Amino acid sequence: MKPETTFELDHLSQSSISQMQRCGRQFYLQRVARIEPAFRNAALVVGSVFHAAVASILSAVRDGIEITKDSALAALASLWEAELAVETPPIRWGKRESPDSQFKLLKAMVSTFLTDGLPAFQGVEILGIETHMRVPLVRSDGCVLETPLVAIADVIVRDADGNVTVVDFKTSGKGLSDQYVETGIQPSAYLMAAKHAGLGDARFEYHILTKKAKPSYSVVPVVRTQKDLDRLWDIAAQVERAVRHGLYMPTSPDGWACASCPWSAACRTAHVHTDAPTVAALAVA
Ligand code: SF4
Repeated sequence: MKPETTFELDHLSQSSISQMQRCGRQFYLQRVARIEPAFRNAALVVGSVFHAAVASILSAVRDGIEITKDSALAALASLWEAELAVETPPIRWGKRESPDSQFKLLKAMVSTFLTDGLPAFQGVEILGIETHMRVPLVRSDGCVLETPLVAIADVIVRDADGNVTVVDFKTSGKGLSDQYVETGIQPSAYLMAAKHAGLGDARFEYHILTKKAKPSYSVVPVVRTQKDLDRLWDIAAQVERAVRHGLYMPTSPDGWACASCPWSAACRTAHVHTDAPTVAALAVA
């Protein structure tokens, strides 16, 4: 594979920052060398179809169009068919997964959203669905990173008291761990984006659908302080610096990330261009 010699970082996002933290080499293969993944993980496909189905339901609510269970499930079926029709990269199904079993799961999840999740969106103003926000990454002392932050919020709502909330939908087998909720950078990224997009000091909530035959729906409000937003800035600054110098550290090969990595074949042959000084050069300096 030909090494990349130049790469302009157009923006950072919660997912690109998290990917760099998880595995710098995967960041390189996907975003710098732009190598196609060998497959799509079924869980990601299911998550993306669920998000699209919920977005279409909420768009109808916002536009005053009546939603029935039949119409929502018909729209879901179209989205699923369209996803299955995409030939490359192929979907990698888990041992107990098949297109039928995953569609059944999706139907159960969307039905649960209609009964348990949707009412919360019917008494509020829907300000945006899949809202794209491109804002500067600003630290509390006013220092701005060269690279902007991009965040795409699933839904942004405003209640009768004027409170703005950014909602992120999660689909998960077991729900979210306490550590993920308490320390993850996603809420900080979305709250920083909302602030600089002119939405003020917004609130943030995870709305979680469990991927089970009988799914449950729960709402987890998340609090982040200015200190958390500064921590995000600090991590983003490190990522920006690493990219500038072509530093893409791979994760440990025995880690869980490699087992489901769609770039594992390319990873074995990748040659990563770097202009960072070598250890020998540093020793001489
Ligand atoms: S196989 Fe492992 S080390 Fe290589 S890119 Fe994927 S996650 Fe990173």
